[in-house]
Amino acid sequence: MAKYTDISTAVIHGGKSIDEATGAVNVPIYQTSTFKQDALGRTRGYEYSRTGNPTREALEKLIAELEGGEHGYAFGSGMAAITAVLSLFRSGDRILISENVYGGTFRVLDKVFDGFGVTYSIVDTTSREAFEAGFGPDVKAVLLESPANPLLTVTDIRMVSEVAHAHNALSIVDNTFMTPYLQKPLDLGADIVIHSATKYLGGHSDLVAGLVVVNDEDIAKRIGFIQNATGGVLGPFDSFLLIRGIKTLAVRMDRHVENAEALIRYLNGNKAVGKVHYPGLESDPGFAVNSKQAVNGGAMISFELKDGYDVPTFFSSLRLVSLAESLGGVESLACHPASMTHASIPREIRLQVGITDGLIRLSPGIEAASDIIADLEQAIERAALR
Ligand SMILES: *Cc1c(COP(=O)(O)O)cnc(C)c1O
Repeated sequence: MAKYTDISTAVIHGGKSIDEATGAVNVPIYQTSTFKQDALGRTRGYEYSRTGNPTREALEKLIAELEGGEHGYAFGSGMAAITAVLSLFRSGDRILISENVYGGTFRVLDKVFDGFGVTYSIVDTTSREAFEAGFGPDVKAVLLESPANPLLTVTDIRMVSEVAHAHNALSIVDNTFMTPYLQKPLDLGADIVIHSATKYLGGHSDLVAGLVVVNDEDIAKRIGFIQNATGGVLGPFDSFLLIRGIKTLAVRMDRHVENAEALIRYLNGNKAVGKVHYPGLESDPGFAVNSKQAVNGGAMISFELKDGYDVPTFFSSLRLVSLAESLGGVESLACHPASMTHASIPREIRLQVGITDGLIRLSPGIEAASDIIADLEQAIERAALR
């Protein structure tokens, strides 16, 4: 019989959770750059920490297990992970990206990979017809987020993966917003899963890290080669912190989602609030597809303050919730996508996809929901223009 069946147990006992040499119940921090070799050509499995480090390897095994994949890779940031994955492609290749992808993903394609001849097109991945229309013989992959940043737009991962495969293209999913606790893209047909582990996986706003998980042996070999060749690896201490963060992923996510649901009820009943975006709401356009592929609506929320409320005053009036980039930490964070996370996207494109100047994104922490709501309430009151 398997030692465990539930991901709530796997987050604690998955990968290589116990140190074989000493029995320590935590993976030691192997803070070393190099490893003594016993003879020419004879190592004990490690030679140099860019190539492999036992602490990082424990993390890589853990994330692979959680995502239901064969191979995991840890990088120094989510963007380093995305850059490594995009390095699979060659001049002349085109990548389809979903609307509302993370601003940094758009920027690295637009300003870095474009210079190497790897191009991109923005497509509506929420409709099979619109998505298929984006294909041409040069398209080698689709890169999407579901729910997508910051409107929580839902894409049918199984549909997109099937269409991509029919066109000999890879399906790449940035699973940062859901984590494997709520959604497993490889099970839905994706080829590559990416994480900014800076967010929910780390969970404490104390590190920056990225992860990649794949099943296919050939893609795994190429990602492993790129990781070592380009060198954007995660250090041993941050690998340790991330393993430690992941141990409480299940209990944290449960509370994050519970708080998000309480906030949604509050926002929906507030006359200052316009559109509310949350795929766990039955009235949300993404509800049906999200319910099919994820455990619940996740914990990210965005909403619009109506005309008559001053958005800058709202932000400067928050006392408990911090105005900050990032998400997924134990503390509640709010941000203004138009001027922060999505500032690198030109205004016309932003407005076209619905990222208005009044849009507010919330990452509820694990505080008491009543305290978060009270803070929003007083900030909204102050923001009222009289
Ligand atoms: C933050 C984020 C990234 C970038 O990750 P970093 O760790 O900041 O480099 C990529 N994708 C999504 C969805 C994110 O939220």
